[in-house]
Amino acid sequence: MIGAKPVASTTDEVVSELRKREAFVMVSHVKPDGDTLGAGLALGLALKRLGKRVHYFQEDSVPRNLRFLADAEFVSSVVPADLPADALWVFCDMSDTARAGESLPKLARENVLDIDHHLGNSHFGALNYVLPHECSTGTCVMHLLRALNVPITPEIATCLLTTIMTDTGGFMHSNTTPEVLLLSAELIGAGADKDQITEEIFANKRFSALKLLGRALDEATMEHAGRYVRSFVDDAMLAECHADGEDTEEIIGHLRSIEGVDVAALFKAYGGEIRVSLRSNGRINVQAAAARLGGGGHFRASGLTFSGSLPEAIAAVDKALVAEGL
Ligand code: AMP
Ligand code: MN
Ligand code: MN
Repeated sequence: MIGAKPVASTTDEVVSELRKREAFVMVSHVKPDGDTLGAGLALGLALKRLGKRVHYFQEDSVPRNLRFLADAEFVSSVVPADLPADALWVFCDMSDTARAGESLPKLARENVLDIDHHLGNSHFGALNYVLPHECSTGTCVMHLLRALNVPITPEIATCLLTTIMTDTGGFMHSNTTPEVLLLSAELIGAGADKDQITEEIFANKRFSALKLLGRALDEATMEHAGRYVRSFVDDAMLAECHADGEDTEEIIGHLRSIEGVDVAALFKAYGGEIRVSLRSNGRINVQAAAARLGGGGHFRASGLTFSGSLPEAIAAVDKALVAEGL
């Protein structure tokens, strides 16, 4: 039995627990991205090769551009009725269990493994494999797979490379270290289909997404002498562009790429809630700014959910960013 103290765990501790358990549920966060899903699928595929029973729990459906990943068709928001009570729930890429959504069943801490690379992870598991210096949760999983001594099949390699390419923005963000490139080379050598990942995730844009990007750019305003850019997307804009939430993903990157901008914010005010995405060029810590409003993330990429009106959200985020040095 593993302890219930919220501590950092070693690779050996995690590997021995993975060997011990017979059944697993890989958990990914709401509004799933290539890291949360790719990391869970990679570990799930590897555990299956060790003869284990594996399920995948995700409240939201799999985004269209991630459906090519192996086992994506088994991802579900329903927990099987005959799941053994001692199944290990493996949370990938989230700072706390709330990020898994409201349909997550109540779990005993002893059945929770937390694998993540976020700053400010709350160490909510009995085991917490939290490595903030890793570029993705997938590379944390890769270290576990090496220690488990399971072969990295082409399917697993594609899942893992997807985590890296997602969280490094296709090897463009500052977290693309020599180590990340070496791991990526190893994954491509193991059969990861880099071209398919590029095509599915970066080159397969929907017309509705580009229309929506155009609308969001139209609404963008430059603040704080051009160091801060913000825009929003609301229900009317989505309807006008025949777009949905998945079509909002790329907008924030375009805002951040504007010359002279230190911080970009996109207010996603649709579907009855306001979610805010923040991106920084490295001068301002947007994780700290988001944390002031109950959110989280990384130094250069963070998010939060705001209760209130859009003008209130805009004012609150402005204040949090100023408090962090904007
Ligand atoms: P996003 O802007 O949604 O792509 O999120 C950027 C980063 O912020 C990711 O690392 C997320 O895990 C994190 N993040 C987004 N929304 C929240 C939230 N409501 N609470 C905590 N972290 C969040
Ligand atoms: Mn994520
Ligand atoms: Mn991640």
